[in-house]
Order: sequence, then structure tokens, then C-alpha cells
Amino acid sequence: MSSVYPRQATPPLNTAASVDLPEVENYVSHALKTTKPLPPVRWDNLISELNWIGVFVITLPPVVSIVGAYHTRLRWETALFSVFYYFFTGLGVTAGYHRLWAHRSYNAGRFLQYFLAIAGAGAVQGPIKWWSRGHRAHHRYTDTELDPYNAQEGFWYSHMGWMLVKPRRKPALPAPLLLTMSFVVPTLIAWLGWGDARGGYVYAGFVRLCFVQHSTFCVNSLAHWLGASPFDDKHTPRDHLVTALCTLGEGYHNFHHQFPMDYRNAIKWYQYDPTKWFIWVCQKLGLATHLKVFPDNEVRKGQLTMQLKRLRETQESLAWPSDSNDLPVISWDSYIEQCAQRPLILISGFIHDVASFIDEHPGGAHWIVKYIGKDATTAFFGGVYDHSNAAHNLLAMKRVGVLHGGIRLAVDDKAVPPAQRLKIARYAELSSSNASSTAYSDHDEGEGLLG
Ligand SMILES: [Zn+2]
Ligand SMILES: [Zn+2]
Repeated sequence: MSSVYPRQATPPLNTAASVDLPEVENYVSHALKTTKPLPPVRWDNLISELNWIGVFVITLPPVVSIVGAYHTRLRWETALFSVFYYFFTGLGVTAGYHRLWAHRSYNAGRFLQYFLAIAGAGAVQGPIKWWSRGHRAHHRYTDTELDPYNAQEGFWYSHMGWMLVKPRRKPALPAPLLLTMSFVVPTLIAWLGWGDARGGYVYAGFVRLCFVQHSTFCVNSLAHWLGASPFDDKHTPRDHLVTALCTLGEGYHNFHHQFPMDYRNAIKWYQYDPTKWFIWVCQKLGLATHLKVFPDNEVRKGQLTMQLKRLRETQESLAWPSDSNDLPVISWDSYIEQCAQRPLILISGFIHDVASFIDEHPGGAHWIVKYIGKDATTAFFGGVYDHSNAAHNLLAMKRVGVLHGGIRLAVDDKAVPPAQRLKIARYAELSSSNASSTAYSDHDEGEGLLG
């Protein structure tokens, strides 16, 4: 029997009680070890493990939408209103449930809190506390078994599969407020406004609800699947404009998982994030205060790290000249002697075998032949022709030896090919290979003071 859905374990409460928890090396493996998982959901126990409320909430809206839309004319007033109502109820979730209650990324006055709670009720996403708790677990246990919407279990599981099977805590039954805001209010507005009660019920009610629900679900599925990781690639969250368009701006999810307390998902003011614009406008109106913003300096560090990582991959995909430590050290007499067997040229302390290049030299083969067995450093660096950086890089690839006493590394710039003057090195590499030259000590100068 193959497993349909993964087993779910109980995440420990993210409350003040955690203060008493013993310190552990890794809280994810600790929680996995100390919590009891539910049995895995398989095809044979699927029926008994189904969460019928979830199944109902997910399957009913599309069925009624399709049947209803087939039999109901769509009036333009109702179409416009449905789009408006989609943004209104969607903002209740993104600006309210998510950024205000789950992350506390700003403070909202009483009026704004009621406004967001009532708007969010129309999106039928369960009680605020249940929603926030699950979402916080998602941030804390991202991509693990304790993540309620674990993206490692596949796109559809993270999108809505998690809602179809039994959750750890029973969601509350659809409260009267949910039904009022999702169906009664849009029906009433369309009826009293332009006499289209049925259209309001079908389009601004059910069809709009389908879009709002799957828009929110996309944050857990699409945002963990599509796009780039410009801030950190440790976990699955990604940034993508398409996801942002589907989710009222929640699509810059790589940034959001790195800086969850930031009231923005997209940092540039012009990047599509209507939830951020809404919160900003609320601040201007005096309805919201203390909008949290992560220090730009730290945000840019994350970006730089990822850029360097990509550059390092490029660096590692290229072939580089042999290091002076890996080459044989040859005396001048031996150099002259070996020139009899193959064409060798000495330039800035390195001995190069130019056999494969003589006929390709753009300046003519005779210039190379002329300097075999000689020191061509001055000629190469401007005495005869001031060679390009590319020529210098290519020359370094032909190194076969080092002249004894011929180079003063890191003093003479000419010994380092241009492509290697700036390199990306891991911290461990710096400290092991150049420990003696990069580690500084204050001892010689007396007392060292910490700045
Ligand atoms: Zn996420
Ligand atoms: Zn979040």
C-alpha cells in the first residue's frame, strides 16, 4: 500500500510554555522525536482519515460555481463587484490573518482589526487563531514533517491536500459570520444595488470564494515551487511575480520566509504587493502603526550571499591555471636545457609550454620563436606589445613550471592573471591556505584594543 498523504506529527505549542523547554541541539529533530505521529494515511484508511469539513469547504464552492455560472447570466455590475469583493475578502486574509495576526508585522487600531476580521471571514479560511497557529508552524518547521503544508510532500498536498485529511485540531464549524460575509452580504449588495441577487450569490459569492481560497492555497504550493531564491536557498520558498499576482502580493515568499516580521513581501515599493500598499495606506490614515521593516543592510547581505553563490558556481565550472605550489621548480640551466626538446618561454617567473600556440599567435609565430629560452616578461607586458587581459589569462593556462627564485607572489601583479585577481573563496579556504598571511596579531604592537 502506498501512502497517500504523509503522517502528521503534533508540533509543540509556540507559546510562552516554550520558555520551559530544555535547550536542544536541533528543535526540529527534537520535536520529531518527542511528538507522536498520526498513522500514515493510506488508500485503505483514507475514508476514516478524511476531514469532512475540509472536503466540503474545498469541493462545494467549485461545484456550485460551475453549475451556477452555467445557469446564471453574468451582468457587468456583478462582475465588477465580484472582483472588488475578491480583493476585499482576500486582503482580510493577507493583511489580517497573515501579516497582522500570524506575524504581528504591524499594529492595527480597533477599527482596522474589525474590518480585517470581517473581510477575512468572507474568505472562509477558518478561525483566525487556528489559521495563525498553522501558519506559524509552517514558518518554524518549513519543509519538515511538522510543517502543516509541507512542500516536500508535493504541490497538491501543500496546496489543499493537507486540508482534506484530519488536522491536529478540529477546525470550528462555519460560523454565522463566515456564511454572512461569504454569501449573504454579496447577495444583498448585488440585489439592493442593481437587482441581481442571483448573480451576486453565484459570482460574488461562490465563484469569488473559489478564487480567494485557491489564491491563499497558492501561497503554500506555488510560492514553494515557482521562481528564484534571491535571499536564501536553504528551504523551498521562492519569489515570483506570477505567484504575487495570484495571491495579492504574497508571492515574494523567499523574502517572506527570511524576514517574516516585515510588513512587506516585496521590498521595492513598485513590486506588485497590494497587501503592502494597503497596510501602508492604513498607516497614512492613522489606522495602523509600527510597520516593521527589516534593516536594508541585512536584507542586502542575504542577496549578496546568493549572488556570490551563483558566481562561485560559474568560477568552479571554469578551468584555471596551475598554482605555483603545484608546479615543478626549475633552475635557469635546466630551463635552457629543456628548451631543446620543446618550445618553452619564461614570463613573470613562470615557464610556459607554447607548442600548441605558436601558429595561433595573432602577432605572428616569429615573435614566439624569438623568445624561446629567454625571459619575455618585458616584451609581453608592453616592451613589444601590451597584451590584453585575455591574452594574459590564456598565457597562464600554458604554465608548466616555476623558475627557481623567479617570482615574488602577491607582490608582482604580473604573476597573477587578471581573471584571478578577484576570486570568491569560502571562509574555510581562506583560513587554511593563507592562515599565516591573513591572520593578524596585535602582539607586536603592544595592547590590542577592540574597536
Ligand atoms: Zn511558506
Ligand atoms: Zn508567513
